Amino acid sequence: MERLRFDIPGFDLKIKLNSSETCSPEKISGFEHTINNLIGELVTEEFEVSATVKELNTFSISISAVHNRGIRAYQISFDVGLFKWIYDSLYVVLSNNDIFSGFGSSSGRFSIPTLDVPDWNSLDLAMANNEEVLFDADRLTLHGYLYTLCLSFIIRHEVRHIANGHVDYLHNELNPLFYENSRNGLSTMDNQTLEMDVDSCVFVGILHGMLNDSSQKERIPEELRDEMGVFMSALFCIQFLFYCLPSRKATSIAEAEANSHPNAYLRYFFSFTAGLSYIEENWPNHLDAFGNLHKENFWQFINSVFENDSVQLEKIRLDYDWSNSQEGFDYMNRIWDNWNSWIPRLQRFTYLPLASST
Ligand SMILES: [Zn+2]
Repeated sequence: MERLRFDIPGFDLKIKLNSSETCSPEKISGFEHTINNLIGELVTEEFEVSATVKELNTFSISISAVHNRGIRAYQISFDVGLFKWIYDSLYVVLSNNDIFSGFGSSSGRFSIPTLDVPDWNSLDLAMANNEEVLFDADRLTLHGYLYTLCLSFIIRHEVRHIANGHVDYLHNELNPLFYENSRNGLSTMDNQTLEMDVDSCVFVGILHGMLNDSSQKERIPEELRDEMGVFMSALFCIQFLFYCLPSRKATSIAEAEANSHPNAYLRYFFSFTAGLSYIEENWPNHLDAFGNLHKENFWQFINSVFENDSVQLEKIRLDYDWSNSQEGFDYMNRIWDNWNSWIPRLQRFTYLPLASST
């Protein structure tokens, strides 16, 4: 891959990002507006979704469902701490000028022990103890774009739990409230299977939207608006989210089975392979480019993000190694096989097509 793709002269380095300001009470209404716009892209007249933002600092997300004027209506509650965490973690990751090199620049690199923190406050504190890091205007644009993309992934993920029938199924069978960070009364295998379904659909939806929808294209910085730029952004988004989000790294089958969600590499791999099938079907000429970008960028990303933290990198390597072992491979296939048993159960609750079966 050509490293210096963006030959843009630097601006004066002068901007320090501040996630508290972005999520301050006066900005919350703009924030909710963004959420509702993203929801609007997915929701049809068959159901309604509204969102609220709370200050819980627990990274929690929940969905409730009610009947409203004869159609199903859902409310998603997001903890703003999660979005602050994404905002700040991206600030840390993009302070490394090797990532999207040439697209603006950062005055230095954050050196903090780990992004794997229990809450947003501890990340904020770690960053505050670091030397001041400033972005130029282009780096700021890149940060804002990738932040919105990651936000979009997470919001779409929740809407897909509704659209794919998971919330109604669970509402019917088990629970009135759906919690993203729990198993919702299901076995871990079943819950991980549903997570695989939504991640796959969301990643394909993001690729499809950015490649085909002109209003979505307009929101992409010009430097990344072509197919390769879209692939780079989308792959970065899942690498960042699944590897930087706290925890869920597995080094054995026992650890993989203990999580509500598939471990980091499996979530990345499920999304990537769904994207690969989509590209093969719709953009066959770009299939090799997409596959190569995944291979080249993955370890460049992982190494760049974690080069200052060998312990964390070791955990990631072990997660990757286990996922690519026979045991990890068998586990991945169990999830795919299990999905075939879920499709008929969900069918009567779905609003949008489910992930395709194997
Ligand atoms: Zn989920």
